[in-house]
Amino acid sequence: MEIALFTLGGTISVPSVPSVPSGGGAGARLSGDEIVAAVPGLRELGVALDVQDVRAVPSASLTFAQVLDVVEDASRAVSEGAAGVVVTQGTDTLEETAFLVDLVWRHEAPFVLTGAMRNPDLAGADGPANVLAAVRVAVSSPARGLGALVVLNDEIHAARWVRKTHSTSTATFASPNAGPVGHVIEGRVRVLTGPPRREVLTGGLERVRLDATRVALHCVALDDDGAQLEVLGQSHQGLVVAGFGVGHVPSVLVPGLEALAARMPVVLTSRTGGGSVLRHTYGAVGSEADLQRRGLINGGMLDPYKARVLLRLLLTSGAGRDEIVAAFAEHG
Ligand code: GLU
Repeated sequence: MEIALFTLGGTISVPSVPSVPSGGGAGARLSGDEIVAAVPGLRELGVALDVQDVRAVPSASLTFAQVLDVVEDASRAVSEGAAGVVVTQGTDTLEETAFLVDLVWRHEAPFVLTGAMRNPDLAGADGPANVLAAVRVAVSSPARGLGALVVLNDEIHAARWVRKTHSTSTATFASPNAGPVGHVIEGRVRVLTGPPRREVLTGGLERVRLDATRVALHCVALDDDGAQLEVLGQSHQGLVVAGFGVGHVPSVLVPGLEALAARMPVVLTSRTGGGSVLRHTYGAVGSEADLQRRGLINGGMLDPYKARVLLRLLLTSGAGRDEIVAAFAEHG
């Protein structure tokens, strides 16, 4: 059995005290071969790894286009016989890259993303255990058909539900609305539940259009006057609003958001980190019902970051308003 393993950089690849100044210069990071060589028990699994070093960057610097390029390479590898895919990257943007992959991954083969919270030179470095668990999941039958998965800390999370919830904990990845879909226990992959099957976005993701499609994310805050929103109409093609609680914003923001919603899709999400935006419980100016009446699209249970990923892909693929509303009804 073969796994295609792609490396993109991140903590799993970078010692805490770099051997070159400024952290992350050429030569400072471990290659994919070095990462897998440090994993006890990996060779004994008998899984052939086709390791490809794609990027060596902090995940803050990854782009949609780079991730989609990896998906294309992974897709080719699976079509040519690989049983599954593992990607190692930084954890900071992993909840977004994983969802991006999930939206376009059309294979039954597992696409597993992993990383590390502790640098490889630290005591208790978690990278090796995470790579071992990720490979186990990538070759396992129970993980087939579940789309993109995030595997860290011996937990398996569905890309569409997972969040990074802590800045340093090795248990940072959690799925607040659902819990992990499975675990790796004594090396055995136990899948307990699975995300419902959803439509995969196909085609229309040309990189030129992607680069030209900007989706802003505005997180409302106490006494927010909305000044940041004023210029968005000129510079962006879509907006995600991270509202208070069940999807509320200060009333002073409402005229501006209504005007924006008349010219671009504006998606309403919650900044809370769990739960759903509501639809018809509150009616005050700036409430969820009021904002929907003024043209905002309900983001459902999608957090702001995932909503932004979905909206950017939809706009890139040329989706119109009805398709965007339908997509958020399906994914949200
Ligand atoms: N935690 C960072 C990330 O998500 C690691 C930074 C680095 O790789 O230099 O990528």
